Amino acid sequence: MPVLIVLLTYPALSQDFKVTLLGTGNPRPTIHRFGPSILVQAGKENLLFDCGRGATMRLNQLKVEQIDGLFLTHLHSDHIVGIPDLWLTGWEMGRQVPLRVWGPQGTRQMMAHLAEAYSFDIHIRRDVDQHLSPRGVKVEATDIDQGVVYQHGDLKVTAFTVEHGLVQPAFGYRIDYGRHSVVLSGDTRYSENLIRFAQGTDVLIHEVIDPEAYSAFVNSYTPEEKARVVGHHTTPEDAGKVFTKVAPKLAVYSHIVPPEVPDVVPHTRKTYAGPLEVGEDLMSIEIGERVRVTATTR
Ligand SMILES: [Zn+2]
Ligand SMILES: [Zn+2]
Repeated sequence: MPVLIVLLTYPALSQDFKVTLLGTGNPRPTIHRFGPSILVQAGKENLLFDCGRGATMRLNQLKVEQIDGLFLTHLHSDHIVGIPDLWLTGWEMGRQVPLRVWGPQGTRQMMAHLAEAYSFDIHIRRDVDQHLSPRGVKVEATDIDQGVVYQHGDLKVTAFTVEHGLVQPAFGYRIDYGRHSVVLSGDTRYSENLIRFAQGTDVLIHEVIDPEAYSAFVNSYTPEEKARVVGHHTTPEDAGKVFTKVAPKLAVYSHIVPPEVPDVVPHTRKTYAGPLEVGEDLMSIEIGERVRVTATTR
């Protein structure tokens, strides 16, 4: 009965593909938008993309105790500051296998330095007091280039370079699962390479900066420095152009600058008429024959 097997397999695959925005903010702390982090669940696997402030708290809200891999878009602190929590708390909660991390050049070195920074705690919990798994606190870190960086069964993760000013390389990711896919922009300004890699995707999750709201935002930066920051990110009008060229079933904003919601939708509508959501922490997107958005109450 091979036909029957195919019919049963594909719907099951589709329903098992879910993306949850754990943090939709940026460096500035705000209780409503934790640091950048996105969970992709495909079948039995939980893959995390970036690990900003509070990512482990959000995983706990979703009752996800362990992840199968962490992928970093770039090494700006807002995207990585939650790693010690994820790594060491996950170990304390029973992880028996090394934490696997993929990221741009410098990732291996950073993870080695973290092991040094936390050596006291690691020694106490591993060798002296709780005798936690020596294997569970290990890290397997890989510095990546553009291309397929992870493949397991029907799940494939492809990294592609984006444009984030002087932060090079910076990556976006495309995650394919069976016949469906999601693309995460990472931090970037308008990127033709992203448009190329995102062709045919179901869902495109993209960062955005509101230049007017950001220039009015009070921080220590001069107007020139603020202009440089804007130049490293994507305006709503440019994001709309990207969405129009990719034509996903759903476009979603995450990594929203400034964090207190600027009204980015009207500006996006100048260049894009398709489906659009402004992301919120714990918003989930189920990707199958249809794309379905659900928001979890915090
Ligand atoms: Zn960022
Ligand atoms: Zn950045």
